[in-house]
Amino acid sequence: MHYQKILVWFRNDLRLHDCEILSLAAEASKRMNAEVFPFYCFDPYHFGKTSFGFEKTGAFRAKFLIESVIDLRANLRSLNSDLIVRIGKPELILPELTQQLGLTSIYYQREIATEETSLERRLHSIFTKQNVDFKGFWGKTLIHCDDLPFAIAHLPELFTHFRKQVEANLIIREPFPLVDRLPALPPSIDIGEIPHLTQLGLEEFLPCARAKFQFRGGETAAIERLNHYFWASDRLQVYKQTRNGMLETDDSSKFSPWLALGCLSPRYIYAQIKKYESDRLANDSTYWLIFELLWRDYFHFVTAKYGNKLFGRKGLRGMDLPWQQNWRIFQLWQTGKTGFPLVDANMRELAATGFMSNRGRQNVASFLTKNLGIDWRMGAEWFESRLIDYDPCNNWGNWNYTAGIGNDARGFRFFNINKQSQDYDPQGTYVRYWLPELDAIPAAKVHQPWQLLPIEQQRFKVRLGVDYPHPLVDLFASAKANEAIYNDSIKQCYGTL
Ligand SMILES: Cc1cc2nc3c(=O)[nH]c(=O)nc-3n(C[C@H](O)[C@H](O)[C@H](O)COP(=O)(O)OP(=O)(O)OC[C@H]3O[C@@H](n4cnc5c(N)ncnc54)[C@H](O)[C@@H]3O)c2cc1C
Repeated sequence: MHYQKILVWFRNDLRLHDCEILSLAAEASKRMNAEVFPFYCFDPYHFGKTSFGFEKTGAFRAKFLIESVIDLRANLRSLNSDLIVRIGKPELILPELTQQLGLTSIYYQREIATEETSLERRLHSIFTKQNVDFKGFWGKTLIHCDDLPFAIAHLPELFTHFRKQVEANLIIREPFPLVDRLPALPPSIDIGEIPHLTQLGLEEFLPCARAKFQFRGGETAAIERLNHYFWASDRLQVYKQTRNGMLETDDSSKFSPWLALGCLSPRYIYAQIKKYESDRLANDSTYWLIFELLWRDYFHFVTAKYGNKLFGRKGLRGMDLPWQQNWRIFQLWQTGKTGFPLVDANMRELAATGFMSNRGRQNVASFLTKNLGIDWRMGAEWFESRLIDYDPCNNWGNWNYTAGIGNDARGFRFFNINKQSQDYDPQGTYVRYWLPELDAIPAAKVHQPWQLLPIEQQRFKVRLGVDYPHPLVDLFASAKANEAIYNDSIKQCYGTL
């Protein structure tokens, strides 16, 4: 066999643990002296605009990404190698590097969503002509796609059916072993600088002092977070009871930003849960974290099944709803000025920190689509821009689901914001934290400030319409009106409800 030169193209798998492409390259270097070139490319496309004009990658996620790449480089250096970094279109940079370094192979982790897979196809056709082995590996999900009990085309339309079928014979592969050493890069290589935010067209910013948790990118911080959540604080054992909390760092795992960039592998989390179950305890909470990882898998496989449909106005279900693109109303939602404290607190947290709890996301997405009737894609793109943990499959899958146009849509369901507020923030601690203007209102009244009498407004130092807005809509009347529209559309689509 001829001498091998393998480029390991890191994308959303910014880690050394459970990293198939790095393991294979390291093995080839041991077995047949292959040269190994770890590589990351900052693609300007990711720093352009979304279709509604938002930054495709906002500053929170960009900072997290930069930190993750810095950490990856440091970890590769500890293995005797390094990380080559470039800024530019992969279609131009990769062929250039291939020529310059005389590469024989490029290994990469396969992506699932449309933009990423079409890039893979374009590169594949370039490298086939050049006789370079351009090889993708599946590694994003907990369950390997080859271990599913059905073909992707036959993925069940309901999560419960998917879960039951996969759980009947759950196959989770072992994480790939850690690589202990890599061959050094030739000294002549320009390894490239990791860019700052400003080089990516974004402004530097100071972290929000009110954020309860400061996310730090990279595998090192990801493993620290897992060790804290599972082993040091033992919070895994109460996860099911606390996961809907909106305020405290340890209410939920906060693994999502690291999962999205692949700083943390789902198989590694699974292996650690199993270790926790054998060393400490197994209960409904340890199971529930696996259950949530299965939700993540489900949205990834849904994306693999439906492709571009996930991002279309009609959604997976192909429903032609008359969505509004009313920017005035949208901006009130976006900036947390709807007059509904639960919605506003969550939207202000997102704007200030780049994070929002799952409970918050469900409520604000339901409110935008089911009460305001605003085009769900505007909400999904705003999340894409702001979220530190943005993941195309999870984000657009959940938005389809909440907007009622997902593959599993079961009629018009909306979140009763008043009840949700009582159930998940009974003392009003969360809303007061992000809406200091409501600070003096007691728990019994803080979620419905529109009911405050003038004398109460004086007592609680909040003037409706001045310090805090009047509600944008009547919660139930608006849901009823949108339900009628939704049901009409279903009749037109399917002839019946
Ligand atoms: C409208 C909307 C948009 C969303 N956009 C994203 C997104 O862009 N990126 C993203 O990672 N998650 C998204 N989610 C899912 C979920 O809100 C986050 O994964 C979760 O809040 C992250 O916090 P955590 O890691 O502490 O979650 P935990 O409760 O600790 O859950 C552990 C992991 O399970 C997975 N998970 C949990 N809930 C879901 C879910 N509903 N769907 C898919 N995976 C889930 C995540 O990977 C999460 O990190 C979205 C949900 C909604 C309703």
